[in-house]
Amino acid sequence: MTSSRTVIIAGAGIGGLVAALAIAKRGFRVLIFDQAERLEEAGAGIQLSPNASRILIALGLDQQLRDYVGIPEELTVTNARTARVLARAVLGSVAEERYGAPYWVIHRGDLQAVLLAAVRANPAISIHLGIRVDDFASHKQGVTVSMLSSGRALEERGIALIGADGLWSSLRKRMGHSAEPRFARHTAWRALAPSDKIEPELRRPAVNLLLGRHAHLVHYPVRRGSLVNIVAIIRDDWREPGWSAQGDRAEILARFPAGMWPPLTRTLLAAPQQWRKWALYDCAPLNSWGKGAATLLGDAAHPMLPYLAQGAAMAIEDAEVLARRLAESPDDPASALRRYERKRAPRSARVQRAARRNGAVYHMGGAEAFLRTLALMAMGGRRILARYNWLYGWKPS
Ligand SMILES: Cc1cc2nc3c(=O)[nH]c(=O)nc-3n(C[C@H](O)[C@H](O)[C@H](O)COP(=O)(O)OP(=O)(O)OC[C@H]3O[C@@H](n4cnc5c(N)ncnc54)[C@H](O)[C@@H]3O)c2cc1C
Repeated sequence: MTSSRTVIIAGAGIGGLVAALAIAKRGFRVLIFDQAERLEEAGAGIQLSPNASRILIALGLDQQLRDYVGIPEELTVTNARTARVLARAVLGSVAEERYGAPYWVIHRGDLQAVLLAAVRANPAISIHLGIRVDDFASHKQGVTVSMLSSGRALEERGIALIGADGLWSSLRKRMGHSAEPRFARHTAWRALAPSDKIEPELRRPAVNLLLGRHAHLVHYPVRRGSLVNIVAIIRDDWREPGWSAQGDRAEILARFPAGMWPPLTRTLLAAPQQWRKWALYDCAPLNSWGKGAATLLGDAAHPMLPYLAQGAAMAIEDAEVLARRLAESPDDPASALRRYERKRAPRSARVQRAARRNGAVYHMGGAEAFLRTLALMAMGGRRILARYNWLYGWKPS
C-alpha cells in the first residue's frame, strides 16, 4: 500500500514508540514494525531526566506516567569501601523548577506499556509485531521497505523509513555503516527487590550511586516504591548480545564482597532471587546516519554506555526533533531527515563521549580513586548537577 503521508518505523522500543506518537501528532500516518512477537515487560529501571520528561509531557502522557514514575528527591554518590556519602545533589521539586520539567525514574516495562497504550489508542498509528524489517530502497516517492514475517516476504511503501531497531540495528548496516558495536568489557546486572523485604533506608526516594573498585552500583525505587531497582556493573569478559540473560545470584554476590561494600548494600544485593545481565556495548559516533528518505534513531544511531543514564532520553529527544523536521517539510522528507541528523548528531555524540568518560571515572581504583573522592567532595552535589545543565536543560526548539 502507498501513502503520501505514511512514515514507516522499524522497532517498537522506547525510541520507535515515542517517534510514532510525535510524528502522528503532526498529521502523518505511521506504521510500526517490530520483530518481537510480544513486547515483553523486559528491562530494569530507566531514568527520565528533564530533557526527556518534558517531551513525554508535551505528548500528553503526564497523567498516565504519573501512575508509574518515581520522583527521586536526591542523587547520592557514596564511596563503597568507606560507606561515606561524597556528594548529594537535590532533585525533586528543585530540579523541576530549575529545568522546567521533572526528573523521573520508571521501570522500562511500565514506560513501554504506557507508550504502547497511547500508540494503540491513536487511529493514525498501526503497530505490527512479529515482522522483521530487512532492507529498503529509496526512490523519488520515498522508500520501499522489505520485511519478513514467519519466513514470508512483505513490502510496504512510505515517504520515510526510521530505523529505531536498537543497538544491534541491521538497518544501520544497510545505511552503509559496517563497524560493529564495541564491547566495553563490563556487564550490567539487574534485579528488582521487593521493598517490604529490605531496610527502610534502602527504599528512600533517591537515586543512589555507589562507587567501588572496578564496579559500581545504582539503586532507586520504582513502581510507586513497591520495588527497588538495582543495577550492578562489573568488569567482565562475557559478551553475548541481548538484554535478558540469566545471571547467577551467587556470582554477583561474590563480586560485591564484605570489606569492599557496605553491609547494608550487601543486604540489598542479597534480597532478589533472580538476576538478569547484559553485556555493555557502544559505538564511536557516526559521521553520517541515513541516506535518501531513511534515517536512524535512538540506539541504532548512537549506542551509548549507561553511565550517564541517557539511552532512553536520547532516543526520546531524537523522536521529537525528527517529528518537527518532518512537519516543517512534509513534501521533502529526505531533506527533513538530513536536517534532523545535523541537529542530533553533535548532541548525541557529546553524550556518548560523556557516558564513556563517566565509566572510566566510576571504575577507578587506587590513587586515582582517592583523587576522585577528593574532587567529588570538593565539588558537592550542587556543582555536580550544574555540570549537567547542558544535558538536562535541553529543549527541542
Ligand atoms: C528487551 C529490552 C530490554 C532492555 N532493557 C534495558 C535495561 O534494563 N536497561 C537499559 O539501560 N536499557 C535497556 N534496554 C535498552 C534501552 O531500552 C535503550 O537503550 C533505549 O531505550 C533506546 O531505545 P531504542 O528504542 O533506541 O532501542 P531498543 O529499546 O533497544 O528497541 C529496539 C527495538 O527494535 C526491535 N528490532 C530490532 N531489530 C529489528 C528489525 N530488523 N525489524 C524490526 N524490529 C527490530 C527490537 O525488538 C526492539 O523492540 C533494553 C532494550 C530492550 C529491547
